[in-house]
Amino acid sequence: MRNNIAECHFKRLLLALTCCWTLLLAALFLWNTRQLRKTTLELAESNARMFWQKDMLYRAWNLSHGGVYVPVTKHTPPNPHLDMPQREVMIAGRQYTLMNPGYMFRQVAELGKELTAIQGKITSLDPREPDNAPNGWETKALRAFERGEPEYLEQVQTEEGPVLRFMRPISTEPSCLPCHREIKEFGKVRGGISIVLPMEKYVLQHRQNTQKLLSAFLAIWLVGNVMTCLLASVIQKTLRQLLQSEEQQRAILETMDKVGVGLHIVDKAFHVHYVNRTTEQWFGYKAGSLCYETAHGEDAPCLLCSLEQVVDRKETVHTELRWQGRVFEVVAAPIITQDGVPAKLEVRLEVTDQKRIKEEERKTQELLKAKEAAEAATVAKSVFLANMSHEIRTPMNAIVGMSKLALETNLDPEQRNLISKVQAASESLLGIINDILDFSKIESGKIELEQTDFRLQDVLEHVTNLIQIKAEEQGLLLRVESAPDVPEILCGDPLRLGQALINLGHNAVKFTHQGRVEIRVELAGQQADGLALLRFSVTDTGIGISPEQLERIFDSFTQADSSTTRQYGGSGLGLVISQKIVNLMGGEIEVDSRPGHGSCFHFTVPFEPGREERLPAQAGEQAAEAADRMLARLAGKRLLLVEDNAFNRELATIVLTRKKLTVFHAENGQAALDFLRTEAVDAVLMDIQMPVMDGCTACREIRKQPQFQQLPIIAMTANVMAGDMEKSRAAGMNDHLGKPMDEKKLFACLIKWLAAGAQA
Ligand code: ADP
Repeated sequence: MRNNIAECHFKRLLLALTCCWTLLLAALFLWNTRQLRKTTLELAESNARMFWQKDMLYRAWNLSHGGVYVPVTKHTPPNPHLDMPQREVMIAGRQYTLMNPGYMFRQVAELGKELTAIQGKITSLDPREPDNAPNGWETKALRAFERGEPEYLEQVQTEEGPVLRFMRPISTEPSCLPCHREIKEFGKVRGGISIVLPMEKYVLQHRQNTQKLLSAFLAIWLVGNVMTCLLASVIQKTLRQLLQSEEQQRAILETMDKVGVGLHIVDKAFHVHYVNRTTEQWFGYKAGSLCYETAHGEDAPCLLCSLEQVVDRKETVHTELRWQGRVFEVVAAPIITQDGVPAKLEVRLEVTDQKRIKEEERKTQELLKAKEAAEAATVAKSVFLANMSHEIRTPMNAIVGMSKLALETNLDPEQRNLISKVQAASESLLGIINDILDFSKIESGKIELEQTDFRLQDVLEHVTNLIQIKAEEQGLLLRVESAPDVPEILCGDPLRLGQALINLGHNAVKFTHQGRVEIRVELAGQQADGLALLRFSVTDTGIGISPEQLERIFDSFTQADSSTTRQYGGSGLGLVISQKIVNLMGGEIEVDSRPGHGSCFHFTVPFEPGREERLPAQAGEQAAEAADRMLARLAGKRLLLVEDNAFNRELATIVLTRKKLTVFHAENGQAALDFLRTEAVDAVLMDIQMPVMDGCTACREIRKQPQFQQLPIIAMTANVMAGDMEKSRAAGMNDHLGKPMDEKKLFACLIKWLAAGAQA
């Protein structure tokens, strides 16, 4: 739109320019033709004057000698008016005639008229010869001379064409006397010589010159117009570019405003030359004002101003500006304003949000690092707990095992009582250690659930067996029941489910002084994918839990009340472990309780229904008999027991020799290797953590020897984490037994690797 208007204006200007050029040239042409005409006339006049001068010279010369003899020719016949005896003379046989001045004048005048068409004539108002009488214009001229005019000039149109009439006066002088004796007085006007100059030649010349002039002017006009057009197209192009760049500039500025980019130009004297809306709104700059007055409300420039650096040193400066809680990124660059003033162009972009996001990201990173550190600490703590558990478990193995063996000997009642208490205390201690180990496994994410088919009733019976004695001791009624619609066989981890229920059951019994404890299983629903939702609840009529205590009941190492520890004992880990197990099974433990009104811990978890045929074979009477037969087959087998702890060595030896096995000892891996070089054995029971050479390394070394490829090597260790079992398997062990030593498991394992093969 703006472009069209500007182009329209430009075209009008161009038209006006062309008109002016044409008018100027026309005026110049007219002036030149006038000048040409004047020059032509002046030339003719000058020629007439020259002719007059020559005529006068010629007359003076004639009068000076009074006449000359010339040969008689067609053009120089004798003068008929001259009557004198020597008019003709013969010289060398040729006739000469005297040309007196007057006759000579006439002859020359006629020749001149004939050859040049210029007529020269002597005339007077008082002529001596009638031929010299003046005609009309000559009379007029002669009269003018008498009035004192120096010459007469006129251009007239005659029948023969245009002519120039010129006349100058002749005054009386002594040279006139030979012909005009009557002259008495000199210096008076006697007559004049008139010249008639035909102008045709000059008019023609003038016409030709005018035509040339016209052609030249037309050429100049044309060249002028072409130049104007060329110039106009260049100007138009430049103008268009200028307008486009102006348009672009405006678009850029508007866009900057729209997207919120601030822009302003300040010169060295702090005058604001330009400011866009954004900067005006943000900082209050006003075009034409002093920046520090309008923007900062100060009467002097600010100390941190970058003007000098940008304008004088021509540097581009990047800075960050903080203004009323907002953050801006600023780029200032040198610029020359439209008025040619050096100035600073400053672009400002608000980055408050980006800064905030970056700050938040930084904080998040820090939190992440802190979280990672916390997790690392948790892992370290879990590793520590696992190590501690191993270290405690090793002597505990000896205590539990030895006291059990002692109880099997002949003791008097007092001794039996004491040893029983040792065994009970050590088993309770083992429970705590197991809890710690479970907790550390859960914390470090090392616990994994088994997926096996099992009978729910078996789990409930096991739970009952474990808590019934204590419940009865406290005079509590224990009810464990499953609703009729609950599937009998489930698929999942029976050990972990039992562990969660035992923990809850133990607590219920522990914190209940009278009344009852109820463990119930109900069918809460059936999921679309075929899973049965089972609700487990453990309800008691015990001391209950206050609302404040309920808030942190599932935190690790937490007892509802610190006095509880003193009164009831416990590690504060049971609930956490139960909760984690339930979480792993896909449920959440909840508790409803009121102080003095008992508690109800319950959770709902999905279970895949199990299948009867997939259940592990039940150990019936026949199975027991078969096991006894197998055990008998172990008699005489040679076992190498690799164990660094002397008590544990002794314990295992007693247990094994009772079943008639031959036991050899090695205190570490290296000793085992040395022993195997000389002695043959049927199997190796290998501890893992040992000085000199650990069990895994020893196993790898043994397996390197071809004769020991099939030798059963069974890990027997207090390292009972899942990773430990994997490690021992990877080292080449056939099986893994945990400590404290479980006799049943030990012999089952030995039967598996020694007797079962023998049977086959
Ligand atoms: P602890 O080994 O101390 O029993 P738990 O994690 O099993 O650790 O229990 C944490 C605390 O929760 C207990 O010390 C006790 O204060 C409270 N608590 C748990 N079960 C019950 C219950 N059935 N009745 C009352 N208080 C309970």
